[in-house]
Formats: sequence, C-alpha cells, structure tokens
Amino acid sequence: MEQLSHRHRAKLEEILVQRERALREDIQRELLQQEDFAQVAGESPDPGDLSFADLSVDLGNASVTRDLHELRAVQQARHRLQGSGYGECISCGYPIPFERLLVMPTSERCARCQQNFEHTYQGGKRGASM
Ligand SMILES: [Zn+2]
Repeated sequence: MEQLSHRHRAKLEEILVQRERALREDIQRELLQQEDFAQVAGESPDPGDLSFADLSVDLGNASVTRDLHELRAVQQARHRLQGSGYGECISCGYPIPFERLLVMPTSERCARCQQNFEHTYQGGKRGASM
C-alpha cells in the first residue's frame, strides 16, 4: 500500500484548516449567544484570544460541546499530519484510503477498525441525540 503523497497531504491539510476555521467561528457565535458565557470567560471576554482547547466542554450547550470535540479532533489530525502517523489506522496499522480521509480527514482508523471500535466501546449505534 502506498503512503499519502505530498499532494494528498496538502489537500487534507487544506480541508482541516478550513474545517478548523469554520468550527472556531461556529463556537464563537454560539458562545456569544449564550448569556452564561460572560461569567465563564470573565468580565471582558475576548473571543479572539480565547484558547478553545482550555475551555471546559461542559458548558451545557450540546452544539458547542459537539463542535469543541470536533475542533480537538481536527487539531489532533493537523498535528499528526505534520509529524508521522497520519493516515495510518491506529488499530491495524494499514494506510487509511485517501478517499476516506477526504470525507473524514480526522479519521484515525480504517472503516473496518472504526466499526469494530464503535461496536466495542459504544455498544453499537447510539440513539438519536435530539
Ligand atoms: Zn484498521
């Protein structure tokens, strides 16, 4: 199996960067709509300087929590992309197909191992969240 080419990596990096920007904007907007956030962030919140990584994910806002989780996954994926290990399944060690990474650039596992993982640790499909 081939490793990701430089061009493929560049494309995935681009997707991740765009996704991270979109998530930050979403989170910022959602937090600003939330009255409680003024207390969380202090008297003069400055969302531009806010370190999302340090934010508690337990803000009682489901969509913010989901976005923060995804933001972390995106940041971790970018970190892996810069070093080594990105695009390799962390369970079986085989390369994850580029097509899968394009759809889900934060993938840590190939489709097969991901299924096994979800089945083992999450008891299969979870109920609707809404
Ligand atoms: Zn695998």
